[in-house]
Amino acid sequence: MERLGSADAFVDETEFERSLRPRRLSEFIGQERLTQNLRVFIQAARGRNEPLDHVLLSGPPGLGKTTLAGILANELEVELHTTSGPAIEKAGDLAGMLTNLGPRDVLFIDEIHRMGTVVEEYLYSAMEDFELDIMIDSGPAARSVKLTLAPFTLVGATTRSGLLSSPMRSRFGIGCHLEHYAEKSLAAIVERSSRLLDVEIDVEAAAEIARRSRGTPRVANRLLRRVRDFAQVDGSGRIDSPIVRSSLARLDVDHRGLDDLDQRLLRTLILKFGGGPVGLSNLAVALGEEKDTLAEVVEPFLIMEGFLVRTPRGRVATEASYQHLGLKSKFPDDPQGGLFR
Ligand code: ADP
Repeated sequence: MERLGSADAFVDETEFERSLRPRRLSEFIGQERLTQNLRVFIQAARGRNEPLDHVLLSGPPGLGKTTLAGILANELEVELHTTSGPAIEKAGDLAGMLTNLGPRDVLFIDEIHRMGTVVEEYLYSAMEDFELDIMIDSGPAARSVKLTLAPFTLVGATTRSGLLSSPMRSRFGIGCHLEHYAEKSLAAIVERSSRLLDVEIDVEAAAEIARRSRGTPRVANRLLRRVRDFAQVDGSGRIDSPIVRSSLARLDVDHRGLDDLDQRLLRTLILKFGGGPVGLSNLAVALGEEKDTLAEVVEPFLIMEGFLVRTPRGRVATEASYQHLGLKSKFPDDPQGGLFR
């Protein structure tokens, strides 16, 4: 799902992200409604000395789901245990994790929509009754053993809440959908990260990075990191608007924040498929990218910015994307790219 660089760069980047991750709710910027509600639920659960209800976090990658899971554990003053849907292959893996939980601990399952159905069914009774019925042995010696678990909070994260089964979804008492961030919040995130990294940045420069970050804190931090390199090598170390503009031009991030893959997608859609409608699979093959990456990472931003629409017949480029790329539209008077003709 990551878009930049080699495996080494990825490890490095993960380290970098961890260092910038807010640890308390008060440090978490933006998503105000969501954080206000969580604050109440946390306080109520703590007051009753009970585990927090199970929480489902949904939204595109890089918006703060993992960060929030960590914050919940910190605010509840319990331990955080982390795993992911694809990593839990067998019921035994799940039993191992669940029996390790202390009272009121948080179990974070990332990409929970990718958990196998058998494992998922075991999880239901664990979530509901804090019990696990597990089969030991097979054949005539097979028997079921009931394990009692410490009451815990499951925090599930998903980029595709639509792919979650409805029995699974209904077992979460608290649902939080994370939205793309407003520019003001992203600018505040860039300023906070700069402080932590000990780099000086102008207010306008922080706003410029925010504007070009696809509404996503992870992207904002990544751009800040690259711009910091250019400022250090080519400038005085201080980040100002001209440095941001020249660095982002060198990184192929355009003035609306579209990066190389965004631009390639729109260009391919227009030049190879006549602006659409085209199915996701064809688009993915033409771009040499995974379908999931396009649907979960690239498209939500392009749709939000009005460059693309998803229709039952496929993806369609809007008039705005022709204009943005300086291409001639077949339907210059129709913002929907001739979709309803
Ligand atoms: P997700 O799990 O949704 O993919 P993460 O929680 O890993 O996203 O967030 C990616 C990065 O963005 C983190 O390193 C964190 O520093 C930063 N970040 C996310 N949300 C916020 C926020 N609200 N305030 C400050 N930083 C944030």
